[in-house]
Amino acid sequence: MKKSLSDMYLLGRKCLFCDRYGLYKLKDKRLKCKNCNKKYSIKKLKRDLEILYYFYLEISARRAANELKLNYKTVQSRFMDFRK
Ligand SMILES: [Zn+2]
Repeated sequence: MKKSLSDMYLLGRKCLFCDRYGLYKLKDKRLKCKNCNKKYSIKKLKRDLEILYYFYLEISARRAANELKLNYKTVQSRFMDFRK
């Protein structure tokens, strides 16, 4: 994954779901997309991108969970989503 691409999402410029610009910040610091109305938090997004990065590297969910200090089931379920 290109660093600049993930930065773009992390800075909240582009919607991760519909890939369009038009995000704005909510009071609780989450982002909301005006195109698809999806809300998400940067923190969660950051975690997801980290998991995605491991997925791209074809690292197993178990190892990714270990290195990211996350629950194996969380990582595993994200991996399943990415495969779709
Ligand atoms: Zn969107």
